[in-house]
Amino acid sequence: MNLLIIGAPGAGKGTVSDRIINDYELVHVSTGDMLREAVKNGTPVGLQAQGYMNRGELVPDEVIHDIIVERLSRDDVDAGFLFDGYPRTKNQAVDLDEILKQLDKKVDCVIDLDIDDEDLIKRITGRRLCPDCGEIYNIYYKPSKTEGICDKCGGTLIQRKDDNPDSLKVRLEEYHKNTQPVIEYYEKMDIVRHVDASMSKDEVYDSVKNILEGLY
Ligand code: AMP
Repeated sequence: MNLLIIGAPGAGKGTVSDRIINDYELVHVSTGDMLREAVKNGTPVGLQAQGYMNRGELVPDEVIHDIIVERLSRDDVDAGFLFDGYPRTKNQAVDLDEILKQLDKKVDCVIDLDIDDEDLIKRITGRRLCPDCGEIYNIYYKPSKTEGICDKCGGTLIQRKDDNPDSLKVRLEEYHKNTQPVIEYYEKMDIVRHVDASMSKDEVYDSVKNILEGLY
């Protein structure tokens, strides 16, 4: 089973993906995580991607093409994959189809996490994370007991560089302009399933699980 999860920044792609991976034997491929890792390690891809990411803009399709081809060349994806945050442009979706065709694979289902921009703004600008253990907080919905300090490990909480209001505005514009056509592209193939992502995390995941149970 090969899945894609699509949604605006803050729609909950990461949380839902973690739970899917926990319950199903799929390889989680997040282009956002791969790019952040590349930036952290100062690799050539990281150096190319850094400026775009800080501004909230999409990294050019050619850069994404290369990291996807490399990732799909590894054997572990034969068990099935979950792409999170990719494809983000129609160009990337067409490109992915070509790459998968060569590998005799295809996308089986696209989960679209649907949510209003206002909800997203609070989720994103309030998001804080612990760089030491990865725990995620939100100053509005899930604050840490002591402001700025991780409950789990005592680490100092940080805000992702692109989680500020200016960068978020650009990311939402990018999403509406570039990623919504991706949903329309897959809708023509009749493989998109929409989920109301404004519900609680458990309710969202229950809906996703219902969809997946029907596929397996
Ligand atoms: P994410 O963690 O998925 O929100 O991604 C963070 C940032 O990485 C995005 O704002 C983009 O700058 C970049 N990025 C991640 N995935 C892609 C992609 N498929 N295409 C272009 N840029 C991407």
